[in-house]
Amino acid sequence: MPLGKHRLQLEEDNMAQLKIGFIGLGNMGAPMAANLAKAGCHVTGFDTVVSQVDQLTMARSAAAAADGADIVVTMLPNGGILRRVADEVLPKMRPGALLLDCSTVDVDSARAVADQAAGHEVMAVDAPVSGGIGGAAAGTLTFMAGGSEEAFAKVQPLFEIMGQKAVHCGGPGAGQAAKICNNMILGATMIATCEAFALADKLGLDRQKMFDVVSTSSGYSWSMNAYCPAPGVGPQSPADNGYKPGFAAELMLKDLGLSQQAAEAVGADTPMGARALELYRKFVEEEGGMGQDFSAMLPRFEAKTRD
Ligand code: NAD
Repeated sequence: MPLGKHRLQLEEDNMAQLKIGFIGLGNMGAPMAANLAKAGCHVTGFDTVVSQVDQLTMARSAAAAADGADIVVTMLPNGGILRRVADEVLPKMRPGALLLDCSTVDVDSARAVADQAAGHEVMAVDAPVSGGIGGAAAGTLTFMAGGSEEAFAKVQPLFEIMGQKAVHCGGPGAGQAAKICNNMILGATMIATCEAFALADKLGLDRQKMFDVVSTSSGYSWSMNAYCPAPGVGPQSPADNGYKPGFAAELMLKDLGLSQQAAEAVGADTPMGARALELYRKFVEEEGGMGQDFSAMLPRFEAKTRD
């Protein structure tokens, strides 16, 4: 017989026993932490700028937020900051506790923090997310996780609250590796989709016809079918909202930078990723792309002629 509301009650009781420190309460971290608190976890938050988030007890430092926590979650801008926060919080964490980093950082930082955690007998999981701010608020993120089986099992209840899917990708760093490979494909396919639309325009091809053909032919991709960069064509997307993000071009630039950094470190040949990085860097730094959705590459290609 389904347990229905009794099962829910049991989960809430379990969650209430869980003490969570949440460090980094920005666009993503604040709604993720709020969802954990709503599910009944006791969440103590810290951010260097944000001083209050609904339903969270706030601490005066990262170390204070981590003190006595079963799980410390971090949602920070980059690997350098993650390493500094890890230096501060790991000595405060008790053996058997777990550090769950959901930020997008370089693979080396993820692995270094996991090693450092092991030195303190603290488990570590790197679990970057996809789904953006909307997914963080709705609790529908996808997590791609790296760490031991035991550590992954321990954070599974948190993934269920903050997200709708979690894939255990392998050992430490595997989550970050999956994230940057996925986003390298995304950056390159978005550029390919945008440049093809701009060429189609210049050839006098109707955009709707272009979508009807490509979305059901071998050129289809998530960029074309689910996130079409042409306004008024395909499903609702940031293109229909003046290219307001969505997923900002500068975040794509960050992820493409991480994938090239990783490719250099292991000697992988990634010419499409390198070119996508170059184009997004120019777009963000010189062509007004900062603050626009990453699909705003379409008006950029339209406006340009062949060099
Ligand atoms: P954000 O800049 O809004 O939030 C980062 C927060 O970290 C800020 O509030 C900042 O004050 C805080 N912070 C910085 N240094 C700190 C420190 N030493 N101690 C405590 N807090 C500190 O960024 P975001 O959009 O929330 O993104 C967070 C991470 O998630 C990034 O790694 C990003 O790449 C990744 N991500 C973002 C999105 C998105 O759509 N925004 C999507 C997927 C992944």
